[in-house]
Amino acid sequence: MLETPKANRLHIAIMGRRNAGKSSLINALTNQDLAVVSPKPGTTTDPVYKAMELLPLGPVMFVDTAGVDDTGDLGRLRVEKTLQVLNRADVVIIVVSVDQPPGAWEEELVQLAKKKGLTTLGVVNKVDLSDLTGAGVQRCLGWFSAREVPAVGVSALQRQGIEELKRILIKHLPNHWLDAPIVGDLLSPGDLVILVAPIDESAPKGRLILPQVQVLRDILDHRAMGLTVQDGELKLALEAVKTRPRMVITDSQAFARVAGTTPVDIPLTSFSILFARYKGDLESSLAAINNLHGLAPGQKVLIAEGCTHHRQKKDIAQVQIPKLLDARVGGPLEYSWVSGGEFPRNLSEFQLVIHCGACMLNRREMLYRVSLAREAGVSMVNFGILLAYMHGVLDRAIQPLSKRWELRGEIL
Ligand code: SF4
Repeated sequence: MLETPKANRLHIAIMGRRNAGKSSLINALTNQDLAVVSPKPGTTTDPVYKAMELLPLGPVMFVDTAGVDDTGDLGRLRVEKTLQVLNRADVVIIVVSVDQPPGAWEEELVQLAKKKGLTTLGVVNKVDLSDLTGAGVQRCLGWFSAREVPAVGVSALQRQGIEELKRILIKHLPNHWLDAPIVGDLLSPGDLVILVAPIDESAPKGRLILPQVQVLRDILDHRAMGLTVQDGELKLALEAVKTRPRMVITDSQAFARVAGTTPVDIPLTSFSILFARYKGDLESSLAAINNLHGLAPGQKVLIAEGCTHHRQKKDIAQVQIPKLLDARVGGPLEYSWVSGGEFPRNLSEFQLVIHCGACMLNRREMLYRVSLAREAGVSMVNFGILLAYMHGVLDRAIQPLSKRWELRGEIL
């Protein structure tokens, strides 16, 4: 299994004074004991790089640094190395301890990070020493706020406030990190991709839907070739082309039919599954499938769509998914639907959230929704993954993404 190349990981530098709790913060964020923690100031000397999966963001590189207030000749060398980390970081998290409010050291860090155009966040650590409404915490948060640095109070030791920190991180992710290809990284120039776009009563009049258009555009951007057909013409298209298609991408509604027509040696996936990877967190969506076994009639399920499109008679969200799911669990579930920008802040009443491919939402918004589900301990699955599973083709539909997954060092 290949590791994600270091350069492809979001680099998050954790900086601050000695003993502000930088190493403890990394441990709390990753929910592991990766960084050596010691009450003795100055335990971290040279910058330490830790490659991690930070859910729901994906592969990141934490850089644990020496305190910026290190002293002596060696200490000054260490501070120099710490500041050099700013040349490689995408995000800087400045950590202060509530009993050691921000001052000149932090001011220098904020100014340096801003000069380099880095996403900068503040963490007020050890709120367990005060309480979150305490004057000390508020003073520290106010200091960051006056410099337009989003900040949050946490207790790394007691792992409080960590989900909120992840949320502000998602909210302020650098734009360059959000711009991933939809499918282009799985293709080589000249590859042929067949797109299956059924034109039925649910298709809008006179045009393709946005996920189909975006996938086709991404194929063209990567100098590959796209051939779009309806499912009825797929067999004809497969016979007509001289080049073996690199993959077939279908609308999830036609999964069963398309899987039957496409030879097993041709990779097959769906627009929605590609979007689960592009916009959200494929890993947690796949994990949610395992939790379907625990669903029982009468439990609450939320179905979310990222836009308010015109609903049709056999609508996938209103009709098809509930019908399949009810049949699977052996009785009716209690469904709620949301669309567009509406999405409940508290998901704890639901047993399962089913989300569309979210072509109309940006990745930041989707990661935010994934983080709300994680916080509430609720499984969240994507339409395409659910439908592929229901039709018994999930393994096959995920396989074409394995190149990317291997690159990300993850296991399917
Ligand atoms: S936002 Fe969701 S429901 Fe709307 S077109 Fe995109 S994938 Fe479909």
